[in-house]
Parts: sequence; structure tokens; C-alpha cells
Amino acid sequence: MPVPRRLLHALFAAALLAAATAAPASGSAAGFDRVFLQIDDGEIAVDDDRQIADALRRLQSLLPAGDARRARRFQATRCGLQFRHDSKAALAFAARGLAESRKARDTEAQARFEYCRGYAYESSDNDAALAAYARGLRIAGGAEDARLMGDGYVLRGSIRSLQGRQALALGDFLTAQTIYDRAYLARRAETNLLNIGMAYRRMGVYAQALVYLRESEAYARALDSYPDLYSALVQEGYAFEEQNQADAALRVFGQALAIAQRSDAIDRGYARLGLANGWLAKGDGTRALEQVTQARRDLAIDHTADHEPMLDQVEARALAMQGQHRAAIAAFGRAEALMHEQDSARYLVLLHRARAASEEAVGDDGAALADLRAYVALDTRLQRESEGEQVTLWRMRFDTGRRDLERARLDIQRRGRDQQIRALQRERPWRWLALMLGTSLLTALGALAFAQWREGGRLRRLALSDALTGLANRRQILRLGQRAFRAAQHDGEPLSLVSLDLDHFKQVNDRHGHAVGDTVLARVADAFAGALRRQDHLGRSGGEEFVALLPGTGADEAAAIAERLRQAVAALSITPGLAVRTSAGVATSRDGDRRLNDLLARADAALYRAKAAGRDCVIAAD
Ligand code: GH3
Ligand code: MG
Ligand code: MG
Repeated sequence: MPVPRRLLHALFAAALLAAATAAPASGSAAGFDRVFLQIDDGEIAVDDDRQIADALRRLQSLLPAGDARRARRFQATRCGLQFRHDSKAALAFAARGLAESRKARDTEAQARFEYCRGYAYESSDNDAALAAYARGLRIAGGAEDARLMGDGYVLRGSIRSLQGRQALALGDFLTAQTIYDRAYLARRAETNLLNIGMAYRRMGVYAQALVYLRESEAYARALDSYPDLYSALVQEGYAFEEQNQADAALRVFGQALAIAQRSDAIDRGYARLGLANGWLAKGDGTRALEQVTQARRDLAIDHTADHEPMLDQVEARALAMQGQHRAAIAAFGRAEALMHEQDSARYLVLLHRARAASEEAVGDDGAALADLRAYVALDTRLQRESEGEQVTLWRMRFDTGRRDLERARLDIQRRGRDQQIRALQRERPWRWLALMLGTSLLTALGALAFAQWREGGRLRRLALSDALTGLANRRQILRLGQRAFRAAQHDGEPLSLVSLDLDHFKQVNDRHGHAVGDTVLARVADAFAGALRRQDHLGRSGGEEFVALLPGTGADEAAAIAERLRQAVAALSITPGLAVRTSAGVATSRDGDRRLNDLLARADAALYRAKAAGRDCVIAAD
């Protein structure tokens, strides 16, 4: 029903515009920036049309008169939110925004409009979406904005993953992770764990996939984030299923179903589909049929009918398991037609093999042979493709040839505009494609990545960075530390940690006042950050206490870096008569270490000794 829907959106847009025009002209650059970030970080919810209209109205009311740069920021935000159901309108809006921001040489807005355009294309033309994301990414690189950069990699990775280019997708997600970590965008980094896990899963690298998916699950539980938890569980379920671990699959799909009781029927439907597959793997056709019947009921409210062939396929296999081969063949036939339409080879291959068995059972040898032939041909093709993926993964791990590969992939032809618009009027095949790749509607990567980009941190109320210094706060630096610790153990690399505490800081406050004390802390943070390397992490662990993480760094090098930190502070000149000094304790990982805390405790003990030794010095733990 395209016409009434579009009409509705036009009305919505008009209402929004009217509301926005009527908004009081009380612009405030700082207020605008704050609300903008809150929307970007998901602290202001934009989950439905009403919330979106509210958020945009608030943002626009804060827009200072004559501030063209912020006006473009506003328009770019609008582009992603207001037209999320109307890709045609989004494309037109983005094209105007792009032209304007190009003229103004506003790279940030350009990147945002490219992302908006990419998202609009996702419903119809993955190549065009990919090209838009790649352009946005190149522009974001020039703008040196960590959020924009990381988000661009996630968006591009999502499309690549949908296109089956898992190794390249994985590369994008891992790059985004590094960017997020370095910029202390903790919530984004946590959300991205799911993408990394999914990409590994889709490549069949299950051990790694489960490491990331479980970590993602743990964060989702800690933050009590329903969508993240559901997605992580469903992905774990697929990983188990694909490894024929039926019991484990049934367990996590059961959990997914339990938490989906709080949510909508579609989530329940996909969890049940997972359960049905699990029962099939256990050879229990009756229970599989039970689950698939309920899943069909749950999914009936989703009018896209994307799930139909999936349901038919599972039902057919369950029927075959019960010896009802004729009914099974009919159900396979229904699934096959839709699968061909969507060119979903991975599922077709299963279908051909399963149907051949039923055809053999009813004595139709000709049909069975044809299915087996089709099965072998498709299977060979898929094997070849997945070998290609594995090779790409290895090349990527050794970081050789990666740039060339990327350049080749990025060289994507732009299509004619009319063709794109026509394509937009078709169904939304990416959802089906996503489903066929083994993911549920909710976890469909494209949708998910954008939802994360836009709405991701609804639960990010826990502050992750420290307001005074802008560094990671205690919680966050410990989290990064735990991650670095695991990575170091996994890679067999050393990890060093420096614990720092300013000397006699109480006196600084007493003599110069608390405000100067605050300034000192901010300047010290900058000095530390300036003395560290790109791979290091820095956090404010307490009042005048800091922690530096030095990945891949042995004891000697760590001591030298700690000394550099000490000198950087000593060299500060803030106000006459004020000399800032720091003591530092250094610890380096060793074989018996089980947790980050082991390292921290040694560094703190060394720091204590540095204080006792007269302060303004570095001591390494022994
Ligand atoms: P030392 O570590 O060398 O033994 O002496 P110290 O004076 O630094 O000792 P202590 O760690 O006990 O005191 C730390 C002081 O730091 C106490 C507190 O007033 C001050 N402080 C903590 N957080 C802040 C802050 O955010 N701003 C300011 N201005 N001062 C802070
Ligand atoms: Mg202290
Ligand atoms: Mg102190």
C-alpha cells in the first residue's frame, strides 16, 4: 500500500515542519551540541515517530540563528530519523543536504548525509548503499571524527556481511572496534562486539564467534538491554546449531524465547524457529512441528512474509521426519520458489538435500536425482566461496594485501538515479537476505547496525568518561583493561600497567583552591595523554589517580614510558609557585596472572613504595 503510507509520511513531515517553525527561537550552541550528542549516543530515545518528532523539535529550538554549520548538523540528523520509513524522501533530502554541505566544505555534514543516503539505499540496492558508506567513510577520515569513522566502518561492514563478504565485514568491524576503544566510545564498542561475533560465525570461525557473542551477552545483561541480549542469544543459538550442538542451541533459544515474552511476537517467532531447528537436529519431528506452528502464528503479524520460506522449510523437514513425505515435498516446493526468488543459496542447498530424501521415500527417483544434482552443484559453489573467505581471513590476519582488496571492493559503479528510485519501490529484499544468512529479523545486520548507530545507547546512562578530564572513568578503564588483558593472554603478548597518583595533591587544593586543583587535573590528563603512544589507554581511576594501559609492552619499555609520564607532569607550568609532581608504580603481566586485578595490585604496591621512597619517582614491581 505505497500511496497511503507515503501520504502519512508527508503529513507527518508537514506536521513536524509546522511544529518546528513554531518553536521558540531560543538558540544555544552549547545546548544544541548537548542534545545533538544525546541523540547520537542514544541517551534521548528516538524509537518511534513521536519520540523522533520530540527530539527534532528540541534540537531545532536550540539551533542558534544564523549558525549554518549547526543547521546542517540538524538537517543531517533529521535525514536519518524523520525519513526512516521513506527511503525515496530520504534520498532526495540527502542529495540536497550533500550539495549544500559540499558547497560549504562541511565534511562532517557530508559524511552524515552519505550515511543517511546509504541507509536509504539499504532497502533496495546494497551496492549503492556500500558506495555511499564508503564515500562517507573517506570523508569522515578527513574530518577525524572518531564517532563518524567508527560508525562508517560498522555501516560498511554490515552491508559487506549481508553480501556474504564476511572477511571484509569482519575487518571493518574490527577497525571500528579499535577506533571506538581508542576514543573511549565504550557503548559503541560493546554494541559492536555482536557484529564481530556474527561475522566470525558467518565465516564458520565458531570459537572466536562465541568469545565475542558471550562478551556481548554479558554486557547486555549488565546493562539490562533487551534487544542486545536477544540478539546475542539468537546468534549464539545459530552458532551452536551450525556446529550441530543441538542441546546448547535449544538452551540459548529457550532463553531468547523467555526474554522475548517481554517483547513482541516477531522476536518470539524467530526464537521458536531456532527451537524448531534445534528439535530437528535432535531428531524430534513432533516438537519441531509444534514450535514451527507457533512460530508461524507469532510471525503472522509481520506482513513482509520474509519468514515464509524459512517456516516452510522447517515444517517440511519436520514432516519428513514423521514420515509424511508427500506433505513434506509440498512444503519444500513452497519454500523453494521463494528461495529462488531471493537467490539464497545457503538455504537452497539444505533444501535440495532434504527433499531428495523425501522423494526417494515416495519412489520418485527422477526428482530425487535432480535434487541431488542441484545439491552437489550448489554445495561445490558454496564451498569454493567459503574457501575464498577463509583465504581472505588469513591474508587479513597477516595484514598483507588488505589495502588492495579493499580498494578493489570499493571500486563500485554508481548506478543511474532513476534505476535506484525504481529499485526502491520493490520489496525490501535485504531483510530476507539477512534472514537467509541465518539471522533473525531483529538482528538483521543492516537494520541493527543503523539502529545501534542511532539508538544504540538508550541504556548508556552509566557515564563512561570522566567529565573533568574527558578520560575514561574508573569503570571504563577497568573494562578496557580487562579486554586488553584477555587479548594479551590470547596473543601471548605482554601487557603493562602504570598506576599514577599525584603527590601532595591535598596541598595543591589547600594553597591554590579547588578550582586550580581541577585545572591541574585536566592539564595532567592532557600531559599524560600526550606522552603515551597510540595503542595505549589512559583513565582517571580516582580523584587524583590515573591508570595507563600499555598493550604489547614489556617491563623495561613500560618503565621508560612511566618515567616519561612523570617528566611530562613535572614539566607543567600552571601557575606561579605551583609544582605538580607524580609518583608511579609499574607492573607487567607474567605467567601466573589470572586477572587484570593481579596486575593492578602489583602496580599499586609499587606505587605505594614510590610514595614511601620520597615521591616524584617511578618504581617497577618485582
Ligand atoms: P600523596 O598522594 O602524595 O600521599 O598525597 P595527597 O595529598 O595526594 O593524598 P591523598 O591521596 O590523600 O589526597 C588526594 C586529594 O585529592 C584529596 C582531594 O581533596 C583531592 N581531590 C580528589 N579529587 C579531586 C578533584 O576532582 N578536584 C580537586 N581539586 N581535588 C581533588
Ligand atoms: Mg590519592
Ligand atoms: Mg595523591
